[in-house]
Amino acid sequence: MPADPSTGDVLEVRHLTVEYDGVTAVDDVSLRVARSEVLALLGPSGSGKSTLLHAVAGFLAPTSGEIWLKSRRVATRERAEPPERRDVAVVFQSYALWPHLSAVDTVAYPIRRRGGGRRTARAEALDILDRLRIAHLADRRPAELSGGEQQRVGLARALARHASLYLFDEPTAHLDTHVRGVFLDELVVRREASGAGGVYATHDAEEALGLADRVALLNSGRLVQLGTPQQVYAEPVDLWAARLTGPASVLTVTVVGARDGGASLDFDGRVFDVESTGETSGGEAVPLLVRPGWARLGGELQGRLLAVRFRGPHSDYVVDTAVGNLLIREPGPPRYAAGADVGWTLSRTWPLGRPGADARSLAKL
Ligand code: ADP
Ligand code: MG
Repeated sequence: MPADPSTGDVLEVRHLTVEYDGVTAVDDVSLRVARSEVLALLGPSGSGKSTLLHAVAGFLAPTSGEIWLKSRRVATRERAEPPERRDVAVVFQSYALWPHLSAVDTVAYPIRRRGGGRRTARAEALDILDRLRIAHLADRRPAELSGGEQQRVGLARALARHASLYLFDEPTAHLDTHVRGVFLDELVVRREASGAGGVYATHDAEEALGLADRVALLNSGRLVQLGTPQQVYAEPVDLWAARLTGPASVLTVTVVGARDGGASLDFDGRVFDVESTGETSGGEAVPLLVRPGWARLGGELQGRLLAVRFRGPHSDYVVDTAVGNLLIREPGPPRYAAGADVGWTLSRTWPLGRPGADARSLAKL
């Protein structure tokens, strides 16, 4: 089914492949963005995030597949509408500001283009600059602004566009944390008011999980997983996805008993029963993902602290255990020093990377 206003999709990408002279940068990707939804594209450098956004914006044509904006098919291999015909606002990594325009004129430009009078456009532009904390730089040209300030002008110009789809290509790379927060809040207010959708490319997992409604994981141009932030964090499809989405420990345990709806796992001589909805067989070694908040110190399993780090709101402990190294995160300052023998326990695990296995085969401990 194509993207359609009645279903609320502002973007649909269908089996999109984009190649550069034989290099496949985007490989058979399909995804949708609904009205008011922000989809994060999360992937390492070179995974195809920018290429995908450029194809949606109209700067690159598909090698195969289709791009739909609302109910219009805007790009196929044979025919691609130019960027100015697509109702899309873009913020790229390189902000490409016009060198001869001041900040306020840059931001006022899209407002004037959609019919705003000179005064109205200037007032609205100043208001947006003010919210991004750069109103005092309104009359400066790009050459008189720092990289981060130019980035904010680029963001302000995009916010002034009022498009039905916003594309962001690592837009906060040069922003400090405070301005990043202001910008993201602004974005949320706008999309709620206008119904605009967004696609937000980043290599920063925390940022992607924190701002998006859904997250698409990209590896070498391929879509590896698409889900809510909670799903991709707690239930990654494989070890690569687990490492991309946050701190991950992998413990290797042995299945010592399998039965309908459950399994028993051996953690160095101590056996735990877990729920299981999939096939498991005795003797099988299972790699288990443990997020830092799923484990805690104290408990019947034994280990030794390899490292302890104070991180402000919490402390990180790396525990050497018989089933692998385990990162535990607990609120507050460190309670133990490196070298100490400690007990530990788990509240949750997720089985990883067993070829052909149902990813939900082993649920909570
Ligand atoms: P990301 O934005 O995730 O870092 P890109 O979309 O920029 O990834 O790049 C995806 C792949 O395409 C990489 O292998 C990159 O080297 C390649 N690539 C990007 N731009 C070009 C280009 N203009 N010509 C040839 N290859 C390119
Ligand atoms: Mg990029």
